[in-house]
Amino acid sequence: AAPAERIDGKAFATALRADVAEGSARFRAQAGRQPGLAVILVGDDPASQVYVKTKMRQAADAGITSFPHLLPGNTNQDELLQLIALLNGDDQVDGILVQLPLPAQIEEKAVIEAIDPAKDVDGFHPVNVGRLSTGQSALVPCTPLGCLLLLQDRLGDLSGKKAVVVGRSNIVGKPMGQLLLNAHCTVTTVHSRSQDLAAECRSADILVVAVGRAEMIDASYIKPGAIVLDVGINRIALEDGQSRLTGDVDFDAVSTVAGAVTPVPGGIGPMTVACLLRNTLSAAQARTAH
Ligand code: NDP
Repeated sequence: AAPAERIDGKAFATALRADVAEGSARFRAQAGRQPGLAVILVGDDPASQVYVKTKMRQAADAGITSFPHLLPGNTNQDELLQLIALLNGDDQVDGILVQLPLPAQIEEKAVIEAIDPAKDVDGFHPVNVGRLSTGQSALVPCTPLGCLLLLQDRLGDLSGKKAVVVGRSNIVGKPMGQLLLNAHCTVTTVHSRSQDLAAECRSADILVVAVGRAEMIDASYIKPGAIVLDVGINRIALEDGQSRLTGDVDFDAVSTVAGAVTPVPGGIGPMTVACLLRNTLSAAQARTAH
């Protein structure tokens, strides 16, 4: 069989950001200001610093104003909650992003629940989780939203497709399953306690993998012709002391069986940031509509 198509998430994300930029320009013409995104980073974790920089640069390119709040690593929970209260009340701010993970002295749950659900562009607040699961309009977590947009772009209507999601985290696996269910797929979610994972995965027309285990999914997990989205980002050490990024899917092996596969890097990662900007624009539009 022909090798699987490599899905260019990077190119798709570029097109999505261009759409957001158009929407931002229209918003600005109506509202007299740009959509605004507050970005909070606590501490100096190098990976988080890179993510935050990328988000702010891409926001600027899409006509979104960022309001950075770079706080020292010893910031306490009350200080952070006070800042969030200020941002909740700030009319220039449409979205509030708190870069995770937070230092140990701050409880993630308290922070997420303090964000105004209308400004919760990560879609982690229980109100948005509940709205998603009851089929109401909601701000939806960026990574699974990016996966859904890629799938709809390629397949159109997803009704009746058999989808398997590997992983059940609150930020990827669970909302992914919910989105696919809302799109009328038949959804199975598997996790570390599931039996016969490979057989479950082999039933999938659509396989979304968010496990955090480098190249765990090989060709034996794949139904011929399936579309495979690899959410995993794993850094593995090389013999020469360098390291490289890889997904949860063994790309070359899976490509011999699947119909299409996303690479890592250049697949789902760029879609996640593009969806953050899309959510910020959606939040701005919804806030000014009433
Ligand atoms: P979590 O660690 O929160 O969840 C991992 C899930 O995988 C859990 O549900 C766990 O099961 C399941 N799991 C672990 N080992 C196995 C196994 N051997 N067999 C079956 N299931 C297993 O991770 P996240 O969901 O936060 O992230 C997953 C991956 O995606 C990571 O590599 C992360 O870096 C990446 N990621 C990428 C993003 C992007 O922008 N592309 C954004 C977010 C995450 P159980 O619940 O039973 O423990």
